[in-house]
Amino acid sequence: MGEIPNILKDGFQRSVLLMAVSAAALVLSYAGITPVERFDMAWVAIVLCGFPIIWGAVKGLAIDHDIRAGVLVSMAIIAALCLQEYFAAGEVALIMQIGDCLEQFSSKRARKGIERLVDMSPKTGRVVEGDEEIVIPVESIPVGAVIRVLPGESVPLDGRIVSGSTSIDQSVMTGESIPVDKTVGDEVCSGTINQMGAFDMEVVRGNEDSSFQRMAAMVASADAGRTRVVRIADRWATRLVAVVMVLVLATYLLTWDIYRAVTIMIVFCPCAFILATPTAVVAAIGNLTRYGLLVKDGDSLERMAEVDTVAFDKTGTVTEGEPSVVDVLPEGDRDGFLSVLASAESRSEHPLGRAIVAFARSEGVRVSDPEGFAMKVGRGVEALVDGKRVLAGNIPMMEEASVHVPPSAVERAEALYGRGCTSVYVSVDGKFAGMVSLSDTIRDGSRRTVSELSDMGVGCVLLTGDNPRAASFIASAAGIGEYRAECTPEGKMGEIASLQDAGRKVMMVGDGVNDAPALKTAWVGMAMGGTGTDIAVDAADIALVGDRLENIPHTVDLSRRMVGRIRFNIAFSLVWNAFAVGLSMMAVIGPVEGALVHNVGSVFVVANSALLLVHGRGREGLIRVDEPQSRPSSG
Ligand code: ADP
Ligand code: MG
Repeated sequence: MGEIPNILKDGFQRSVLLMAVSAAALVLSYAGITPVERFDMAWVAIVLCGFPIIWGAVKGLAIDHDIRAGVLVSMAIIAALCLQEYFAAGEVALIMQIGDCLEQFSSKRARKGIERLVDMSPKTGRVVEGDEEIVIPVESIPVGAVIRVLPGESVPLDGRIVSGSTSIDQSVMTGESIPVDKTVGDEVCSGTINQMGAFDMEVVRGNEDSSFQRMAAMVASADAGRTRVVRIADRWATRLVAVVMVLVLATYLLTWDIYRAVTIMIVFCPCAFILATPTAVVAAIGNLTRYGLLVKDGDSLERMAEVDTVAFDKTGTVTEGEPSVVDVLPEGDRDGFLSVLASAESRSEHPLGRAIVAFARSEGVRVSDPEGFAMKVGRGVEALVDGKRVLAGNIPMMEEASVHVPPSAVERAEALYGRGCTSVYVSVDGKFAGMVSLSDTIRDGSRRTVSELSDMGVGCVLLTGDNPRAASFIASAAGIGEYRAECTPEGKMGEIASLQDAGRKVMMVGDGVNDAPALKTAWVGMAMGGTGTDIAVDAADIALVGDRLENIPHTVDLSRRMVGRIRFNIAFSLVWNAFAVGLSMMAVIGPVEGALVHNVGSVFVVANSALLLVHGRGREGLIRVDEPQSRPSSG
C-alpha cells in the first residue's frame, strides 16, 4: 500500500523538475545559445512540456469528445512549430506546465490539510477490560486486545468482530458505497466507518500495518469527485476554439498570408487564461486554511460561490453539542432508572447519550455493559440491559414502539422545551420508565454567522431530529427563520433535495452520523471538524477545524470573490489577447513578440489572484485557527 502517496509526491516533483529544465532551456534558446550545433534549445521545453499536452488534448478529444484548455494550447504549439517558431512553442508549453504545477500544488495542499485533520483525530481505541473501557493510543494497543467501536466512528485497527453487529461503510477502501453488514467473526479494516451499531473487536494487526491504509483512503476520497463541476476555464475553451478558428480563417481569406493567420493561433493562446483558475484556487485555499477551513478540492469552492441557502444541523452544529442533564423524572427508584438508562446509552456516540452517561457516573450510579445495542439514527437507542429491552429516545420512537407516555411527563417536557431543552423518554420492556431532560448551549458565533449570511443574501434553515419546540427555540435564538423538526437522516436529505429541486443551491453544515447523507446530497457539505463524527467529515467537501461557525460567512464571501476573480482574469486575458491578435493581424508583431506580450498578461493574472491570499484580513469576527485543536471524539 505504500506506493500511493509516493507516486503523488513524485508526480508533483516531476512536474516541477520538468518546469525548471524547460525554463532553463528556453532562457538558453532566447539568448541564442546552442550547445549542440543547429539545435534550438526550445525543443527541450517543447518535448518535455508540450508533447504531453498535445497527447492529453488528442486523448480528450478522441475519448471524451471534450474541448478543454489543452486543445487551445496544443493548437498554438502546433501552429508555432509549423512556422518554425520554436521559442514561442516552448514558451506556451511552459506556461501550461506552470498552471499545471499550481493546480497540483493546490490539491497537494488540500490533501495535506486533510492528512493533518486525520492526524489530529486522536489515534486512540477504546480497550475493553472487564466492565471498563480505557481509551489508549493505538500504538500501544497490542494484537489480541479487544476494542469497542461506537456508531459513526472509524475503525482504528484491523480486527475481527467478537460481539455485536453493524453495517460498515467500506467505500474509502473499496469504492463501494453501499454499507456491508458485519457480525461476529467478520473482519473489519482500519479506516472504514462504522454506521449504526456498536461492536467489540479483537485486534489482529498492529498499528504500523493499518494506520497507513486510513491515510491513503482519506487521500483517495479527497481526490474522488474532483470532476463534479466543469472548470470555468474549460467551459470557455470550446467557445474560444471556435473564435480562433473564425479569426484564423478570416485573416487568411483577407490577406492570403498563411504566416499571419497562423500567428494568430499562437498569439491567441490563452496563457493568462490558463493561469486564471489555478492561481485563484491556490490562493483561496491558502487563505481558508488559515481560518481552519480544510477544502478537499478546488471544485467545492467554485460550487460554494453559488450557494444561496445554508442548512444547519442543530445539535453539535448550532449548539455546542455538550448538553447537560437538567431534570430527571423517574417512574420509580431514581438510581435504578439512571443506571438502566446510562447502561443503554453507554455505547452511544451521540452528545445526548454521552451526557447521560457522564451524568450517571458523576452521581455514582453503576453503568454496566448492555448485552445488545442498536442506534436508531435521529430517534434514540435500543439496548438489552440485564435481559430487559430498553428504549431511550424521542416521542416518535415511543409512538413507534406503542409505549404510553403519561400526560404528566409530556406536560413537564413541554414546559422545558420552551427553554430549548431536549427530553429523552425511556421505556423498559415496553413500559414507560421515566424521562431525562437536557439543555445544550448555543454556540457563541451562531447569531452573528446567520445575520452576516443573510446580509450576503444567503438564507438559513435549521434541520433537526429534535422536537419542534426545541427546534423553534434554538432557531430563534440563532436568528434562523425557518426550521424543520423531527427529521430522520433521510428526512434531512429529502429537505435538502427538495430545496435543490426548487432551484436553490444548498450548503449543509453538520456534525453527526445523521447528517452524513445530507452532507453528501448538498451542493456543498461542510462538517464540523471538532464535534464532527468521522463519518460526517468523510462525507463533507470542507471540514471546519475548531468548529468556528463565525468563519463561514468569510468562506462564502471568499469563494464568490474567487470566482469573480477567475472571471475577471479570463475576461482580461481575452481582451489582452484580442489586442495582441489585432497587432499580429496587422503584422505589427510576430510570434515571439506575441509570446512576450502574453507574459505581461500572465504576470498580471498571477498578481491579481495572489491578492485573494490576504482577503478578509482584519474582518471583524473572523477567527484564525492556526493550530488545529484536537478532536474530542475518538476513532
Ligand atoms: P440533531 O439533528 O439535532 O443533531 P439527532 O438527529 O442526532 O439531532 O437526534 C434527534 C433526536 O433523536 C434527539 O433530539 C433525541 O430526541 C433523539 N436521540 C438521538 N440520539 C439519542 C440518544 N443516543 N439517546 C436519546 N435520544 C436520542
Ligand atoms: Mg448533530
